[in-house]
Amino acid sequence: MRKLRRTRREVLGAALAAPTMYVLARSTGLLEMTRAGAAPAVLPPTPACPDADDVTPPQTEGPFYTPATPRRTSLREPGMPGTRLLVTGYVLSTTCQRIPGALLDFWQCDAQGHYDNAGFRLRGHQFTDAEGRYILETIVPGLYAGRTRHIHVKVQAPNQPVLTTQLYFPDEPANRRDGIFNPRLVMTVRDGADGRMGLFNFVLRMR
Ligand code: FE
Repeated sequence: MRKLRRTRREVLGAALAAPTMYVLARSTGLLEMTRAGAAPAVLPPTPACPDADDVTPPQTEGPFYTPATPRRTSLREPGMPGTRLLVTGYVLSTTCQRIPGALLDFWQCDAQGHYDNAGFRLRGHQFTDAEGRYILETIVPGLYAGRTRHIHVKVQAPNQPVLTTQLYFPDEPANRRDGIFNPRLVMTVRDGADGRMGLFNFVLRMR
């Protein structure tokens, strides 16, 4: 326990040295990745305030959702093929409030474009932290017939309706051919030393 706290302080201390960014390190798994020299997930210290028009648009659930997923922030498993991907961001209200405890339930196909419809491979849910942040470790999903590259997600603030939507990648040729694709759902994606990093803030209209 003491070792973990010290490591956490070291990570946060290094983050404070950076003027405008900080390291998002809230799970042992991420700390391990950071120690291993991976590109850390970074978020601006304060998210830009969304306009009311910036509400994250819904998308079709598609045929491959499975309920009752395991709670976990990493969907990556040992030996799983595919480029490592970290996705992070805030869950915000249209009045710019960060939403702690919001549920995010992610699911996606593997690097070959296949969904696990029997088990929970590449499926998992998590909750935003006290600052309204989430982080997902996964792999870059593959392509399958008729669709561009995407990650499915359900987002739900406490006691609010569920938003079902999808996240997309920039500069994908198939974005232009996918009738479901919405440019408002494209992540900001950077290439890191050990994979890719996607940034996306969800904006929910609260009832
Ligand atoms: Fe899909």
